[in-house]
Order: sequence, then C-alpha cells, then structure tokens
Amino acid sequence: MLQKFDFEKMPVVEIVNEIMVDAAKRGASDIHFDPLPEYMKVRIRIDGLLINYAEIPNTIKKNLITRIKIIAGMNITETRLPQDGAIKASLQNVNLDLRVSSIPTSEGEKMVIRILDYSMSLSGLENLGFSDKNFHKVLKMISVPNGIILVTGATGTGKSTTVYAVLQKLNREETNIITVEDPIEMDIEGINQIQVNSEIGLTFAAALRSILRQDPDIIMVGEIRDAETAKIAVRASITGHIVLSTLHTNNSLNTIERLLDMEVERYLLASSLTGIISQKLARKLCEKCRISRKTNQYEKDLFKKILNQDIDEVYIGEGCEECGNGYKGRIAIHEVLLINQEIRDAISEGISKENLREMVYKADVNTLLQDGLEKVAKGLTTFEEVLKLIELEDDDRVYGEYDLKTAIDYTNLTHQTEINESKTDIFNDINDVNENTLNQNIPTNTDNNINENVNSMNNHQNDNEPASEPIPIIFDEIDNVSI
Ligand SMILES: [Zn+2]
Repeated sequence: MLQKFDFEKMPVVEIVNEIMVDAAKRGASDIHFDPLPEYMKVRIRIDGLLINYAEIPNTIKKNLITRIKIIAGMNITETRLPQDGAIKASLQNVNLDLRVSSIPTSEGEKMVIRILDYSMSLSGLENLGFSDKNFHKVLKMISVPNGIILVTGATGTGKSTTVYAVLQKLNREETNIITVEDPIEMDIEGINQIQVNSEIGLTFAAALRSILRQDPDIIMVGEIRDAETAKIAVRASITGHIVLSTLHTNNSLNTIERLLDMEVERYLLASSLTGIISQKLARKLCEKCRISRKTNQYEKDLFKKILNQDIDEVYIGEGCEECGNGYKGRIAIHEVLLINQEIRDAISEGISKENLREMVYKADVNTLLQDGLEKVAKGLTTFEEVLKLIELEDDDRVYGEYDLKTAIDYTNLTHQTEINESKTDIFNDINDVNENTLNQNIPTNTDNNINENVNSMNNHQNDNEPASEPIPIIFDEIDNVSI
C-alpha cells in the first residue's frame, strides 16, 4: 500500500498536503516521519497499528520538514531541540486539527503529526460502545450535582473522547463549564478552555485555583498528574462542583489506590468520588467481512467462567477491500463503577486492599474482561483482541498490573455475588482459577498476531501524548504559505 508520489514534479507543498489529507481520510491517528540513512520513512497509525505509507527521497527531506514546521508555527532554524507546533486548516474539504512534534535523533529530525479526530466525541455518549448497563450508570453519574468523576486508562485508550462526550452532554446554557487542559484537543462552543503553560507557571494546579474563583458549575481537568492537582480537584468537587478528570490507571480499584497514594485525604475522597470509568480500546471487526468460527475448549471455558454463557461461535475478520486486515475502527471496553455508600465508608475507614477489592467488584461492576468478552460474543471484536488488551496493554506497571489471572479474579468476585443471590453452585470452584486452564493454549494460530501486537504496543508506548503547549495557528488558505 506504499503511496507513490512524483517527487520530481510534485511541489513539496502539495506532497505535505496530500499526506495530511490522505492520512486523515484513512482515519489515521498519527503520521510519523522517520529519518533513515537512505530515505525518510513515512508511516501512519490506523486502529493503533503503524503501517508503512511512503518513502521520501533524501533530496527533498529537508524541504518537507521545513514545510511542516512553517505551517505548524515552529522554528525552522532550530533542529537540535525538540519542538511542538499545531496546524489548523481546511484542505480539500477536510478539516484538519493537528499537533506536531519534532525531536532530534541521531539520523536527523523525526516528526510526528497527531491527527485530532472529534468525530467520536461528536457522535455522543450514546455511541461510545457502552453496554446498556454501563451507559445508565454513566448517566446516573453525571446527574449528581457535585463530586468527582474519573475516566481512566493508559495512553491512547480514548479517555479524552469519553471526557469530551460527557462535557457535551453537560454543556447547557445555564451551566458554567471551565476546563484546564494540556493540550486542548477539541474546541467546544460554550465552554471556557484553558491551555496549561508551565513555562510561565500556568500549571494544572495554578489554573485550577483560579478557576474556583470563576463561579464554575463543572470543571474539567485534563489529567491528574500530581498530588497537588489531585488534592485541589477533590476539594473542588466537595464544594458543589462536578469535577471531571482522567487518570493513568487501569481499573477502578487501582484508581482509588492511586488517589490515596497521592495523599488525597481518605475522608475527602470518600465523600467526593462519584464514579470511575475505566477503558481500553479494542480493534473493531469489519462488518463487511467478519465470519463466524467455532470456539475451542479454552475459549468455551473462559466464556462459561466469566459470562456464565455457552458460546459456541465467535467471529473473525477475513479481510476485504474495505478494511484490509479484518478490523475497521476501534471499540472501547469499559469498567464502570458507581460509588455506593458501602465503598464510601470503606475508603473513609481505610480497609485493606483485599477487602476494598472485594467490595468494589461486588458492587455490580462488569469487569473489563467481562465487558470485552460480551463484545466478542456480540461479534464486535475478537477473542484474541480482548486477551491481548488484558495481558499486554500495560504501560503502568505499578498500578497497571492487570493480567488475565487478575482479570479473572476480579470478575469472579462479581460472579460470586450473583451466585449467592441465585443460589446455584455451578461456580463453587471459581476461586481456584485453574492454572492449567489459564496456561492452556491460546490457539496457536494467534501467536503471530500476539507477537505482532506486542511490537505495535511497544511502538505505541513510545509515542508521546499529543504535543504539549501547542501554538495553534489558523491557516485558512494553507496553500498561500510557501517555503
Ligand atoms: Zn473487511
């Protein structure tokens, strides 16, 4: 699928425009320009995976980088220090909102363009892949007039999309919504958005303090990264505001622990926490070419254990013209916890991690594994995809340990309640998750995929979040700018 350009005849301006527009049209999230000794490699990330896109000859490499820097408002003479920039433009009827980052590597400058895509947030909370049960919990969460709501997950799990969708739901004439973000990823009409600028001392914490004097109803903090921000955010939420934020943790339990480790006082956290939405992104099966296949014994056992369902068939993608590899787009896997009184008391009293875990996962919570497998059973994604996410997408080891064993343990806790209620004894042995079952072959034909995915995950983890502190420059007529 390598894209061919006529580098002899085509002006650099057009090549750059073409790459940006084409990548956006293909639904890419990032464009990478990697300097190599022989040429510059261009790759685009689609549905989480980097694929080769084009090869730029060294003769025009410098001009191409300069062109990108100019339209991104970056310093074209600086090649030895990392830089950030931004591009807003409308090209060939495609609205582009891009964040540009350059870093000096031993082979020369490497540029990455992050393509911000609002279409998911704009499609509304209803269309983010929440199960009915989870969707209603989220609606309940955002109807509470004060308290803190956290959306959690690793980098690139769609946290911002969820947060923006919630903000849009809450965005009404009679509410004053203020956000502090780094970077502002989407402009929302009617909302006051502040860009963090740590160089001049405008940190999350500093901005938050000032926001509190601006008579806010709803405050969105882009990310809680430090203890100071965590403390102010929690305090703000108990004084009659809805605070919405994101945290780099893997599930509900880890999120509570992380906040306590950030020295948020137990009694404050207990009274302020409204709910936690944890999420991961799985590749979505292409509807055009998915076909069913029989489940093997391992999969049957896991479905039975986790969902208490007999699933004989799941889907795989064959690959067609539309999708290429059987997947098209991505779907979020969620774990939604609505804090109840029992959990509040437990946080406040400081019970052990084990007891808290039991309490959280008995609170009618569908775990990530459960939600993922439900989506597999519905043919939205594949069994392999969900297992890969559970086992591998952990770029936060301390709080992120969430391997299959842990995932099953968590899920079993919720099942136990159901068992107690329904008085069946099917799951008597559920607590001793059979090691043999766990280690049993995940079907060998997926091993390659999994390895491939390890690589891509690693790549992804090396990616930075969108360039910070962008200098948005509006180019209505991008073509008028010349090198
Ligand atoms: Zn297809």
